[in-house]
Amino acid sequence: MPTRRSVLVAFSALALGGCSAPAPSGSASPVAASAAPVADDAAADTAVDVVTTPPTVPAHASPTPPRPTLEQVQARFGGRAPKTWGLDVPGVATRSGAGTVALTFDACGGTGGNGVDGWLISALRKNKVPATLFLNARWIAANPGTSAELAADPLFELADHGTAHRPLSVNGRSAYGIAGTASLAAVYEELVSNRAHLEALVPKPGRWYRPGTAYYDEVSAEVTRAVGLVPVNFSVNGDGGATFSASQVVTAVGAVGPGDIVISHMNRPGSGTAPGYEAVLPRLLDRGVTFATLSKAGLALA
Ligand SMILES: [Zn+2]
Repeated sequence: MPTRRSVLVAFSALALGGCSAPAPSGSASPVAASAAPVADDAAADTAVDVVTTPPTVPAHASPTPPRPTLEQVQARFGGRAPKTWGLDVPGVATRSGAGTVALTFDACGGTGGNGVDGWLISALRKNKVPATLFLNARWIAANPGTSAELAADPLFELADHGTAHRPLSVNGRSAYGIAGTASLAAVYEELVSNRAHLEALVPKPGRWYRPGTAYYDEVSAEVTRAVGLVPVNFSVNGDGGATFSASQVVTAVGAVGPGDIVISHMNRPGSGTAPGYEAVLPRLLDRGVTFATLSKAGLALA
């Protein structure tokens, strides 16, 4: 039997395919990826004792600092050469600060990525499990009614999955064959333009940001914080970019412990994601695992 950690690391090395490019119909083949370390679960327990009601005042209700202009960002960060590129770079949050598990679901948008996994949403509602939903501007534009419906549901917190779904790079690095942003101006555009769409849905969307493909360099992660957002990735890859079978989802998500942030996808109906979550959520609740949105999980804003 592989250890829990080896299983998680193996899953985490798989591409975030649902977050990058449309998968061929019926394909379950993971795309080769650079195996960045993403699942530091060594300290995670397997259960907590009591299911408690999260605090009622979300962290994102705190005042949002004024956003610097592009010129101010260029003056501060111009000339910085990044040293890292990947899923877990300095400055990116990968675990929450509390004893809860934070489920996060990306809605990537674009060709082949504008789907709505209604089965998954129903499974979350049926089990009353909260989640943070990272919405891309293209997905919101393609699904205005669903976006409004999700925004109105207190079970869900909306967060930011970028404007054009680009890997966040100051110098044009790419991930999974998708070209990243290539300048501070492009990083700034990718970071801030989707805010208006989110703020049209909810007065105070979560200040959490995850770029397309979840790749950053550490300079772009620092820029993310400078514009008032928090770069968030994950400690558990729950669905391998919506390429996992249901049983793989059950294995990956079933191994979560307090403080984990789980990434999966809500834009791939027909994948193993929904049946996997439908099977595993009751087991986790029976085990006493508590779920919360990133805000209510106590993820630090600074
Ligand atoms: Zn995505």
